[in-house]
Amino acid sequence: MYRLGGEDTYGRPHNATWRDLESALGSLDGGECVLFPSGMAAISALFRVLLSTGDTLVLPSDGYFLTRRLASTYSVVEVPTAGPYPSFDGVRLVLLESPSNPGLNVCDIASLAAEAHAAGALVAVDNTTATPLGQRPLELGADIVVASDTKAVAGHSDVVLGHVSVVDASLAERLRDERTLSGAIPGPFEAWLAHRGLGTLDLRLARQAQNAAALYEAMSGKVSGLRWPGAPEDPAYLLAAQQMRRFNGVLTFELPSVAAVDRFLAASELVAAATSFGGLHSSLDRRAQWGDPVPEGLCRFSAGCEDPADLVADVLRALSHALGSD
Ligand SMILES: *Cc1c(COP(=O)(O)O)cnc(C)c1O
Repeated sequence: MYRLGGEDTYGRPHNATWRDLESALGSLDGGECVLFPSGMAAISALFRVLLSTGDTLVLPSDGYFLTRRLASTYSVVEVPTAGPYPSFDGVRLVLLESPSNPGLNVCDIASLAAEAHAAGALVAVDNTTATPLGQRPLELGADIVVASDTKAVAGHSDVVLGHVSVVDASLAERLRDERTLSGAIPGPFEAWLAHRGLGTLDLRLARQAQNAAALYEAMSGKVSGLRWPGAPEDPAYLLAAQQMRRFNGVLTFELPSVAAVDRFLAASELVAAATSFGGLHSSLDRRAQWGDPVPEGLCRFSAGCEDPADLVADVLRALSHALGSD
């Protein structure tokens, strides 16, 4: 629609397709959503709006690696997601990530938010792994949700996008202003694709979680460090079951070596080597290749929407090749 005046006068500050997606994600998150061109753009805009040089920021030591790199100009306290957490006195922002990527540990968002608020700190949760259908951090007491919609939300491994959702309308306004002034704006077509992807998020998560459960059972005892918060045997299960609305398809495990991971990928017909996750197709990412401080053979596995029996058979065959010899 061509309009002079009104809202959509120019494409950098306003776009109708962004608003459609922001309205959908905001209502799922239970806050006001501001869209950004990537998850990192969302996180960096949040830091620029909230933090000044020298401010103290609490970050997960086992969470998304680039967030820690980005924060290196602030005073950062790194804490493992599973805790123990230090006092939040003097802290400006506590950024939690639950389940953490790639460790898949979980923290008690409600109780940490209460402690942080008592100390005067703001609380943000990176909700990428959980998705807005899997967890509602604002309802649990967080002030801010940040997320990469590149993963399960868009869901087809063909979009890079992110968002921030907040309770405080004035913070939303400052984030929108930051987006307009920085000029780093999301592409309307990416927003349209993610909006279309959102329509099947529920179905995709259901199949991905079903596949993750089947793989967890099939791989138990065959690989070390197998983690999936949706499994009752997982150390994060009780807390995850209490604060999450549903589980997803992301697992981690460790193979003995880089060569074993290479053999797994060469032998599998269904699992792609890819660093994104939450897409239609199963994928595996050896995180250490990107500089994550994790064991060389640590794999983050994203279960896709394949037929469960096909996927389990393929993964077991690939595993036997991977573990065959070194
Ligand atoms: C991928 C990811 C990001 C960064 O998102 P991009 O869209 O790739 O910029 C941030 N946090 C987590 C937990 C992620 O998995």
